[in-house]
Amino acid sequence: MTEKKGRVFSGARPTGRQHLGNYLGAIRNYVALQDEYECVYCIVDLHALTTVEDTLNLRQNTLDMALDFLAAGIRPDESIVFIQSHVPQVAELHLILSMVSPLGKLTDLPTFKEKVRQQPHNINYGLVGYPVLMTADIVLYKANVVPVGIDQAPHLEFARETVRSFNYRYNTDVLIEPQMKNTEVPKVLGIDGVEKMGKSLNNHIELASTPEETQQRVMQMVTDPQRMRRTDPGRPEVCNVFSMHKVFSPAEEVSMIDTECRRAGIGCVDCKKRFAANLNQHLAPFRARRNELALKPAYVQDVLDDGAQRARAIAEQTMRDVRQAVGLP
Ligand code: SF4
Repeated sequence: MTEKKGRVFSGARPTGRQHLGNYLGAIRNYVALQDEYECVYCIVDLHALTTVEDTLNLRQNTLDMALDFLAAGIRPDESIVFIQSHVPQVAELHLILSMVSPLGKLTDLPTFKEKVRQQPHNINYGLVGYPVLMTADIVLYKANVVPVGIDQAPHLEFARETVRSFNYRYNTDVLIEPQMKNTEVPKVLGIDGVEKMGKSLNNHIELASTPEETQQRVMQMVTDPQRMRRTDPGRPEVCNVFSMHKVFSPAEEVSMIDTECRRAGIGCVDCKKRFAANLNQHLAPFRARRNELALKPAYVQDVLDDGAQRARAIAEQTMRDVRQAVGLP
């Protein structure tokens, strides 16, 4: 086995069945990172409680997400895949780290301000402490590397500062300062062609949909708004269908569409049908694996239990060092 470069940690909120935006923005990268790093992937159900008030679907969403991760190629015999709340040490570390986390800095973070705008009726303590819990997640598992997109960069910077403050205050080096691995997270637009793809806007295409459902969603995709008639030349560079072709279609087909769209040689209906076919072909192995796994809920549960057990072993070791550094009896 090749020597790994270090340990990666990444947490994802349990948003249920994953869509193309999740796949291109995170899952694809999670799978690839396994070749170079020891990976710890956590489904952060405790984080979800800061915004999810109705937890009726939380368990199902968590399991659906785990299924999608495994079907997409996360290898549980190599990587640790687990549910955040199954490792209670994270709550203890969160509390200890909160003592070295300046309140002003937390309330100043752009993500906190955004949440305040989004849910003014529910500005809870957990929202303020969100980056502290995120820091606890990362350092509990002694991760050296965290893949983050540009929007999460301030949180990682906060985590790095918190580690420095903790180590300085308690004159120790038990916590590892994580490095940021800048990940280019493409902005995947929804089928409306305007907003980022997301479930709340119902503009998403689910990975686990049937080929027919996928084709239906693709046919609803908004194209170049200036192309009103079949005979109008189009502008692939402003068309979301074309952006998706570039990811999922063979290079010759992309080049053909690029040329033919501009001279109205291909219509949007045909273009979308081609994209739907290529997307379905790309997702076919994922869907087959997902269907297989869905028939084996005990196996999926075992994977998550085993992941939690391996995560707890690392966590307890970290907490022993932390408690000693802090001077807790
Ligand atoms: S032909 Fe394809 S690339 Fe051109 S506008 Fe229509 S959907 Fe977009």
